[in-house]
Amino acid sequence: MHIQESLRFITNQIHQYETKYHRDLNSVLLIAVSKKQSIEKIKEAIEAGQHDFGESYSQEAIPKIEYFKHHSNLILTWHFIGPIQSNKTKAIAEYFNWVHSIDRLKIAKRLNDQRPGYLPPLNVCIQVNIDQASTKSGIRIEDIEALATEMKTLSKLRLRGLMTIPEPNNDIEKQRQKFKRLRNCLEILNQKEFQLDTLSMGMSDDFEAAIAEGATQIRIGTALFGERI
Ligand SMILES: *Cc1c(COP(=O)(O)O)cnc(C)c1O
Repeated sequence: MHIQESLRFITNQIHQYETKYHRDLNSVLLIAVSKKQSIEKIKEAIEAGQHDFGESYSQEAIPKIEYFKHHSNLILTWHFIGPIQSNKTKAIAEYFNWVHSIDRLKIAKRLNDQRPGYLPPLNVCIQVNIDQASTKSGIRIEDIEALATEMKTLSKLRLRGLMTIPEPNNDIEKQRQKFKRLRNCLEILNQKEFQLDTLSMGMSDDFEAAIAEGATQIRIGTALFGERI
């Protein structure tokens, strides 16, 4: 399938789920996860109207971002969604509009210090280990509030919400339970004078469940671009 068709297909699915689960129309943003996908494929997606892209590896992403800065007059939004090593924060702070995968204060501080002054604050989400499994990346639920509170002092970061990558599960009810847990975390923060508007959750195999539970951004790779190279 061409990317234009799969993009149309997924956009229709998103609209169907918005209706089915009584969500506002266009309340779910589609992030096209272009990691390990070619410039050509990204170009096709842009021509089909896609603006938001997700990348997981800064070395791979930056040449792509540079390319489109010079070869497209559209304004694109780049979301960093991968694990963050300390030595990559400078590049991430300079090139991305969003970072979804903050799981410790050290990384948040570095991104804050390295965000160039001429750019607006970096939009960020805290990544939560919703399965509570020790092998998974993301912060534990009980540690979210402390990190969020510390981040309030970082003026070049704008905390927008929470992100998670649950363990794969084919049962939509089980998928929903995990996403609901993340939504509850966000609601609790918002009862405590945070003003968060973003739930980044849902991928190719579980985005219906995520939309049902309030996702505002879904991150779709393979369902849009096909298998990664
Ligand atoms: C790769 C990736 C995705 C996209 O996964 P698909 O299953 O291909 O849709 C979404 N979010 C994160 C954090 C990823 O690393």
